[in-house]
Amino acid sequence: MTLALVSAMHQELAAVLDLMPDERRTRAAGRDFWVGHLHGQEVVAVLSRIGKVAAATTATALIERFGATRIVFTGVAGGLGAGVQVGDVVVADTFLQHDMDASPLFPRHEVPLYGAARFPTDPVLTDRLAAAARAALPGAGFHRGLVVSGDRFVATTAEARALQAELPDALAVEMEGAAIAQVCQDYGVPYAAVRTISDRADDAAHGDFTTFIEQVASRHSAAIVRALLAPA
Ligand code: SAH
Repeated sequence: MTLALVSAMHQELAAVLDLMPDERRTRAAGRDFWVGHLHGQEVVAVLSRIGKVAAATTATALIERFGATRIVFTGVAGGLGAGVQVGDVVVADTFLQHDMDASPLFPRHEVPLYGAARFPTDPVLTDRLAAAARAALPGAGFHRGLVVSGDRFVATTAEARALQAELPDALAVEMEGAAIAQVCQDYGVPYAAVRTISDRADDAAHGDFTTFIEQVASRHSAAIVRALLAPA
């Protein structure tokens, strides 16, 4: 059983690597994979880099080359849902690619030839990740539901409003999660994802984002991972 821990940004990966006593670096698919242990469990940690294709390559390499049997993503996202505020934690039940559009051949958002727009995460692993997030960050607002992904940093109020109108149940927007959900469905590998809200995907998003990454996000990721892997 090898658990893969994926982050999109290097500050988050660094915080996870700090928890691993024996990680060894292996290069594959143009990336560094860190193989070792965390609380005695076999772990491979990696930086996906940003965007859906980078995330899909990372997930595929994790499964094919590193034998990952579960994948957990930790990262940040822009809040979309009413009441999803900076510093809150969102655990994904389901993912959708907000920029997928093969209409009129296929319904808006549906991934062609999959017959679906929404890709669920693994319910058991997601329950465990949600419990870990609540235990690690008891003061943070907590949400669970739909997270949407696309190859765009959403940083205007107009675009955030458009996404809210189009996908009223979306809690948060980011750039990787739905790609990994699709790869994990293809391979039958359980997947769970947690995101700390770094911005509200609005006109203030860019400034909020930079400060937040440095000050909060990496600590959140490490705390959640530690709680997830802590011996019961
Ligand atoms: N490097 C750039 C932007 C990073 S992209 C910078 O420093 O400004 C943002 C990353 O955080 C992605 O990995 C994405 O998954 C997530 N994210 C956070 N807020 C987001 C938003 N408002 N829209 C899209 N992705 C967001």
